[in-house]
Amino acid sequence: MADCGLAYIPADYGDGIRKPEGGTNFGAVILIPFDVPGISKGKPLDKLGQRTVPQGEIFFDNVRLPRKYLIEDHAGYDASFFSVLTFENMSIALALSGLARASYDHAIAYAHERKQGGVPIIQHQSVQLRIFDMWSKVEMCRALSRRVVNFNFLSGEPHCLASVTSKVNVTQMAYQVADEALQMFGGNGLAKEYPMEKLYRDARASLIEDGENNILSLKGGNWLSEHYQETHI
Ligand SMILES: Cc1cc2nc3c(=O)[nH]c(=O)nc-3n(C[C@H](O)[C@H](O)[C@H](O)COP(=O)(O)OP(=O)(O)OC[C@H]3O[C@@H](n4cnc5c(N)ncnc54)[C@H](O)[C@@H]3O)c2cc1C
Repeated sequence: MADCGLAYIPADYGDGIRKPEGGTNFGAVILIPFDVPGISKGKPLDKLGQRTVPQGEIFFDNVRLPRKYLIEDHAGYDASFFSVLTFENMSIALALSGLARASYDHAIAYAHERKQGGVPIIQHQSVQLRIFDMWSKVEMCRALSRRVVNFNFLSGEPHCLASVTSKVNVTQMAYQVADEALQMFGGNGLAKEYPMEKLYRDARASLIEDGENNILSLKGGNWLSEHYQETHI
């Protein structure tokens, strides 16, 4: 669907693409119009979740672009990359807090409608406990999301660690809330006629989009270790 893309890619400025000590020489940020010769697109991927955010393969065959499409060279690469990651990870935390809240809203409404054992299921104490657990997780999502927005907009400068922390934890909690809300719907939770099936799939995708959570956590742990070494060793 997109007419252009923004590519964060390795670049050869005369020293090659690979560093002699290992790793990649980053980089270049390039705006790529998709109507230049040599570019073609594959079909959108038939994904499990977040289907309204289409993705697909893009093929490059001897593509040449004028220099004006270079947005950042290696001097500005890191700042650009981490700025995008900082604001995107924060945005995912905000969006997934909304998904957690929507899941909770559907679950508590359904628990008041659905009758089992002659009463609405909310009257079973175990269901009340489950509702409170969902509510608590929604509150934690919201608290962490508010904190990262305050931090990134009101402190001296935005910080990628704050955003990564919020993305990883909010998406995990939102996924747990969506999972439990689907469970609350019983068999209906699995049916497309009810909302939980979609929310659950979208929550599942959030554990991978905008950085797979294990990799983001690995990066976060790496930064914490670097910081400790700088300040303590
Ligand atoms: C809805 C959605 C929207 C997206 N939007 C965008 C977008 O706008 N722009 C964009 O660029 N991308 C986007 N993506 C892609 C997304 O960022 C990647 O799918 C994600 O970062 C994971 O990368 P990968 O798929 O290459 O998995 P891989 O990196 O191949 O990971 C596969 C598995 O290997 C593990 N693994 C990988 N490396 C290591 C390692 N060094 N050590 C230990 N384990 C490792 C991972 O934990 C994971 O379990 C989107 C994805 C989704 C689902």
